[in-house]
Amino acid sequence: MRNNNPPTYKIMARQDKIWDVIVIGGGASGMFASSILGARGKSVLVLDKNKNLGEKLKITGGGRCNITNNEPDIHKMLKVYGEGAPFLYSPFSIFGVKDTFKYFESRGLPLVVQARNRVFPITEKALDVFKVLEKEMKKFHVEVKSNCAVKKINVRSDKVESIETNNGLLYAKSFILATGGMSHPETGSTGDGFKWLRDIGHTVKDSSPDIVPLAVGDLWVKSLAGVSLSFMKISFYQDGKKQFSKTGKILFTHFGLSGPLILNSSKKVDDLLQNEGKVTALIDAYPDTNEGKLEESIIKVFDNNKNKVWRTILKEIVPEGMAKAIELINMGLDFNTKVHSITKEDRKKFVKLLKNLPVHITNLMGYERAVVADGGVSLKELDMKTMSSKLYKNLFITGDLLNISRNSGGYSLQICWTTGYIAGQSA
Ligand SMILES: Cc1cc2nc3c(=O)[nH]c(=O)nc-3n(C[C@H](O)[C@H](O)[C@H](O)COP(=O)(O)OP(=O)(O)OC[C@H]3O[C@@H](n4cnc5c(N)ncnc54)[C@H](O)[C@@H]3O)c2cc1C
Repeated sequence: MRNNNPPTYKIMARQDKIWDVIVIGGGASGMFASSILGARGKSVLVLDKNKNLGEKLKITGGGRCNITNNEPDIHKMLKVYGEGAPFLYSPFSIFGVKDTFKYFESRGLPLVVQARNRVFPITEKALDVFKVLEKEMKKFHVEVKSNCAVKKINVRSDKVESIETNNGLLYAKSFILATGGMSHPETGSTGDGFKWLRDIGHTVKDSSPDIVPLAVGDLWVKSLAGVSLSFMKISFYQDGKKQFSKTGKILFTHFGLSGPLILNSSKKVDDLLQNEGKVTALIDAYPDTNEGKLEESIIKVFDNNKNKVWRTILKEIVPEGMAKAIELINMGLDFNTKVHSITKEDRKKFVKLLKNLPVHITNLMGYERAVVADGGVSLKELDMKTMSSKLYKNLFITGDLLNISRNSGGYSLQICWTTGYIAGQSA
């Protein structure tokens, strides 16, 4: 007997529309790419698993957004990107630092250059950077589907065919993958893109927290939580041997040390920690004064306060906010001594201490505090003139998904603008 029942297929809800481009991930690079695509008249859909787009962008630079670094010389700029540099020459020639200035300033957000060439919006609000992108996306009718988590990328031969989401299958002529890295996962960047890229045959370097604060065990450091001191020199040691030094601003936190100087040292400290030897550091609170000169100025303060208790005049000597912390460092100094009774030996010990504040590094902080996690898709597998995958010609990859090491200082967001622009022009 003939079976008249229709065949049954397990099918997912299918949307009929075929978009020109679907952008997976509405962070810095995804939003930027979609605005460029919109301006080209493409039909664009941005998907994000979060309720709101750009959650990480909104917390960049402590809410101020270090949008790029003011180094218009491509060669000098690219040095920061280490092994990624040779791959980035062409992308930066297409959309570099000057173009970032032009893009945001011509859309009503002037940029200002601050210390160490770091560039910020004049309002010092990351939200204003977000608003420029959001406005641009609206202007060009970019559609956004939030609360939409992509689960899988379906490929056939050398093309991405569709994507599976919690709202069903979606189709497009091209796809831009912009799901970010793994730092601060609460912003939505949970490394999903790394997994998909591996699944479809790309080489993806494992991720580890990269630009990241240091966890330390010292109570005196933790007691300074919230204090930021702008001119300090830190030298790192392993097995008593000096490894490297840096001078700049240190931010003390309840878990250890942070701030640009520390963040930019974290990669080297990580390498040392991997060697299994203990890592310690000494902070020089007076890097531009030698011990002799420092002692002279301390003697002057002592002479003016002979009958006071040492503790009560500490704040006249040490950098602001540090007096209490100095007391916590047990160096055998009795700060209850009257100043006139301080021995020469203790005075010299005190001078040495201020130039060698001891720190014991226990670890690097994890993804939750990392500014950047390294790792990502191999640049060798991308056409850097278009940001397209060499394996799948309609797949474009941007931002933190790329395996590019860098320092803090606006270099990560510049990668987002550069790669987002190029993918937006090519997809
Ligand atoms: C605290 C902090 C401060 C920083 N400050 C600076 C700074 O001042 N200057 C600078 O240059 N760089 C800074 N960075 C780095 C910079 O924020 C990143 O390089 C940049 O945001 C990366 O952008 P992206 O587009 O690659 O990804 P992200 O901005 O991480 O966006 C990825 C998006 O994809 C979405 N997504 C992920 N998985 C899925 C999925 N399965 N389905 C759907 N959507 C998904 C996420 O929800 C997210 O919205 C900072 C980073 C941190 C954590």
